Amino acid sequence: MTDNLSAKDKRSLFHAVSSIADTASSGPFVLSHGKGSTVTDEHGRDYIDMGAGLWCVNIGYGRDEVADAVAQATRQLSFQHLFGGAASAPAIELADRLLTLFRERANAPHMARVFFGSSGSDANDTAYKMVLHYHNLIGKPQKKKVISRHGAYHGLTYAAGSLTGIPAYHKAFDMPAHGVLHVDAPHYYRGAMAGESEADFAARMVAQLRDTIEREGPETIAAFWAEPVMGTGGVIPPPQGYFEGVQQLLAQHDILFVADEVITGFGRTGEWFGTGRYDLKPDIVNLAKGLTSAYQPLSATIVGDRIWDVLEGASAQHGAFMHGFTYSGHPVCCAAALAVLDIMESESIVDPVAAKGERLLASLKQRLKDHPFVGDIRGAGLMVAIEYLADPATKRDFAGMAGHKIVAAHVREEGVLSRALPWMPVTSLSPPLVIADAELDEAIERYAKGAERALPQLESAASA
Ligand code: PMP
Repeated sequence: MTDNLSAKDKRSLFHAVSSIADTASSGPFVLSHGKGSTVTDEHGRDYIDMGAGLWCVNIGYGRDEVADAVAQATRQLSFQHLFGGAASAPAIELADRLLTLFRERANAPHMARVFFGSSGSDANDTAYKMVLHYHNLIGKPQKKKVISRHGAYHGLTYAAGSLTGIPAYHKAFDMPAHGVLHVDAPHYYRGAMAGESEADFAARMVAQLRDTIEREGPETIAAFWAEPVMGTGGVIPPPQGYFEGVQQLLAQHDILFVADEVITGFGRTGEWFGTGRYDLKPDIVNLAKGLTSAYQPLSATIVGDRIWDVLEGASAQHGAFMHGFTYSGHPVCCAAALAVLDIMESESIVDPVAAKGERLLASLKQRLKDHPFVGDIRGAGLMVAIEYLADPATKRDFAGMAGHKIVAAHVREEGVLSRALPWMPVTSLSPPLVIADAELDEAIERYAKGAERALPQLESAASA
């Protein structure tokens, strides 16, 4: 049975974001079931999923309430689109609930409407098109360039993939697209000069953005894109003062702000939304992942009144808004989101996240304090990074960025799933928000054992 699956995989499945050669030689890693924070592979081996899938299974695996809601919605109305003014009850109910929730929990009363898609990538493409459309409508068609950041991850469709600032995702595909610029990510641990305070470093990052805007011409810059806490780029919480300075610049130059909350939305950083936690005033916010806890594919692009008012005002002359997808507002996906929100709210799932995040951070720091290759441990809520260097004193990287991947492999052997990130030499930990303290402690213990078992290999990699 097992050989059968692996053989079938090798002859038929085109894996996403995977090395074709590695998968062909090692075979796929196949999970068969999951409950809470634990997943089980096809051989019956359990793992604590400290990645929550891809930062998305916030309420944990296998909740019957969501399964029942999905079954019920499927029986009632298995499909309805939103084209030409059509709708379904789950899409309407979810838009209304989400808007209220976001306005309240993110302190963002200016948000006006919700547009649905199926993935974080398509949400960013949607936002990109809204930004272009908006500037065309207000008679500033030259205002079209977009500024993102090195290390950003906004998805992998062509526009979103261009916003992504990780070269490994670009090089095969002639990306980024024309008109997308990247400035440095505010990674204090790696980017700060000797003796530079966090506030000074943040000011320098803001100055770099200002210089870029001035060099390009503010009249050509349409929007700035950012994750409140950079995720795939290395788990980089914003240094003190950073977003304050960025937002002042954007306001000064009439540049729109798109907040990509695909990871940070729905409790990940310890508050409901990064927008609220970091006092952001975005014109567009993108949500996905935690919106359904990945029980169904669904994204939401929440549009602020500055853009909405223009679109609404121009509608009579300009005709229909010609963007959307077959699955925008899919009723079964929206029903899943409603069931997940019921659980999030009735079980107060966000409340203990900050404390759990602190427990995770403090225990890792304690447990790994003597590890010779750990350079930095940082995080926000249940988004944590452990950064590995061949020589932390000089911040020298392992050749070929091999170190953190070696650790992640050993950690998996100990029964914990972590993620080896593609840009920074970081293993990220982002467990389901519902993880119990005892499970968290067990995962930390196993993680530390894996990191210790990796030492001989790390030592030879460090001297390579
Ligand atoms: N934005 C962010 C911040 C993400 O982390 C991701 C996915 N990791 C995306 C967008 C893209 O989401 P998807 O893979 O669903 O297209």
